[in-house]
Amino acid sequence: MRAVLDHVGIAVQDIEKALAFYGEALGLQIEAPEDVTTERVRARAIPVGGPALELLEATAPDSPIATYIGKRGPGLHHVTLRVDDIRAALANLAARGVRLINSEPRPGAEGSLVAFIHPSAAHGVLVELKQSAAPDVRLEVKSIAFGDLQLTTLNDGPFRLDGGAMFGVVPRPLWEKLSPPDDHNRIQLAMRPLLVEASWGRMLIDCGAGDKMGPKQVDIYALDRSRTLDHALDTVKLTSESIDIALATHLHFDHFGGATAQVDGALRPHFANARYLIRAAEWEDATHPHERNRASYLQEDFVPLKSAGVVDFFPDDCTIKPGVRVERTGGHTGQHQIVYLESGGRTGVFVADMIPTTAHLQDPWVMGYDLFPMETLAFKKRFIREAIEREYLIFFEHDPKVAAGYIRETGGKRFVEQVL
Ligand SMILES: [Zn+2]
Ligand SMILES: [Zn+2]
Repeated sequence: MRAVLDHVGIAVQDIEKALAFYGEALGLQIEAPEDVTTERVRARAIPVGGPALELLEATAPDSPIATYIGKRGPGLHHVTLRVDDIRAALANLAARGVRLINSEPRPGAEGSLVAFIHPSAAHGVLVELKQSAAPDVRLEVKSIAFGDLQLTTLNDGPFRLDGGAMFGVVPRPLWEKLSPPDDHNRIQLAMRPLLVEASWGRMLIDCGAGDKMGPKQVDIYALDRSRTLDHALDTVKLTSESIDIALATHLHFDHFGGATAQVDGALRPHFANARYLIRAAEWEDATHPHERNRASYLQEDFVPLKSAGVVDFFPDDCTIKPGVRVERTGGHTGQHQIVYLESGGRTGVFVADMIPTTAHLQDPWVMGYDLFPMETLAFKKRFIREAIEREYLIFFEHDPKVAAGYIRETGGKRFVEQVL
């Protein structure tokens, strides 16, 4: 069994007074309020590095915190250790004869499971075990009217990538709270192509991974094909044949693998009536991969498109269709681009792998996958500032929970106000 410190609970008489000390006097950064009201207790977490201090105030006279303070006065109340599998941990402790308060886990805050070990077994300390909620993936199809455009976030099923690779130089203790890894160190991600509908037709921005992967890759990436892009299109009464344009942010398998499909033993364009819009220099890079990017550029995803004569290359940043404009970011791949959606005085941006999830809002949280991380950093610094100031609606392609939202900043802390 492996356990890491999650938080230290401190019983206080008055949270606001306690905050004056922990926040103002000690200078600890108090995050946006995270009050959790359970079991007649109000809690406020203060992150201190990886773990947190959790201030606990009773909200009723019969609260366990009121009882504790009545007996022993305010002070250290409990230590919480996070484990991957709480049932296995409890079974292991019981087998060793450790006295438990809860032999079965019970529901804690935010979908977690918790159980307490008796202080007599832990040398006078009340120890709580906690298993974080498994991050499921939101797969609903959601639409929003955006000036003359109708924007619909679709999905091509959940998948997983290595957490270390997703956060580059950021150490695991910092990212694992935002994106809890599984026992293979993989984090849960989504693939959310965006459907843009306008008077000029229907455009898909990116198209997921598709169905061509063999069982080994399916296993490595935990690709769940029970809910695919075709299912998502079906929920808005469309089919692959309804798409007029498929635009690529870049040609990695999790973005454009769905462009082709195996039909009767042959590789064909998946969207039978679509033109495929690809940046010319990205095509060059993708068709001339090197050791570092070969696993991401799968030739069967895009080469058959050219043979079928359905690709339109474009050389530079440009307006693809009224209200849809691309801009090269570089960084992730040499020619990675994001897509601006501009209509009715509003701006939406499909940021693809420049900000893959809402856990990547801080400028230096750059993926290890990126070929040119300093380019990503420079672009993010400028772009996120602009996105906050001008209130861009950001579409997060890989976030497991948030399909779109506004990036906000208060007291130097960034967060996303979810819209979709
Ligand atoms: Zn990529
Ligand atoms: Zn990606």
